[in-house]
Amino acid sequence: MLKIISVIVLSLLIGGCAMQSNKEMSSSKIFQSVEEKDATLVQKGKNKGSCSRCGMDLVKFYKTSHIAEHEGTHFQYCSIHCLEEHLGNEITLKNPKVVDVVSLKLIPVSDAHYVVGSKIRGTMSRVSKYAFLNLEDAKKFQTKNGGEIMDFNGALEKAKEDFKHYK
Ligand SMILES: [Zn+2]
Repeated sequence: MLKIISVIVLSLLIGGCAMQSNKEMSSSKIFQSVEEKDATLVQKGKNKGSCSRCGMDLVKFYKTSHIAEHEGTHFQYCSIHCLEEHLGNEITLKNPKVVDVVSLKLIPVSDAHYVVGSKIRGTMSRVSKYAFLNLEDAKKFQTKNGGEIMDFNGALEKAKEDFKHYK
C-alpha cells in the first residue's frame, strides 16, 4: 500500500514538474516576441494571429514578421522565409512590408536595412534576418550582435539559399 501511495505521489511530482517546465517554456521570451498590444496584425478572421504559410504565432515571432497583399487580401508571415515561399509559388505580391525591430511598426521593405546572420536567433532559419528603418539602428545591432547589413533583395537571396537546404 505504501508503495502504491509513493508511486502516486511520485507521479504527481513528476507531472507537476512537467507542467511547470511547460509553463516556463511558454512564458520565456524569445527575441522575436512582443506584447500582443504592440503587434500589428493585418489579416482578417480567426487565424489573423498566425502566419499565413506555416501557421506560427505572429506575436511570438513578430520582430521577423512581414506582410504583403495579393488580389486585395492581406497576408502576414512569421518571417521573410514564408514570404519567399509564397513568392516562390509564382505569385505576385504587392506592398511587401517588414517590422522595424526598433519601432515595431510595419515599414516598406524598400526602406529596410536587414542585419543578416547575427548571433540573435532567426525565425525558420539558422541565418537570422532582422530589419531596421534607420541605418544607425541596424549598425548598432550589428556592432552588438554581428552580421551583415543588406537590403531586402539581399536578405531575400539569403532566404532563398536557406530554402535550398530544406528541399
Ligand atoms: Zn511562417
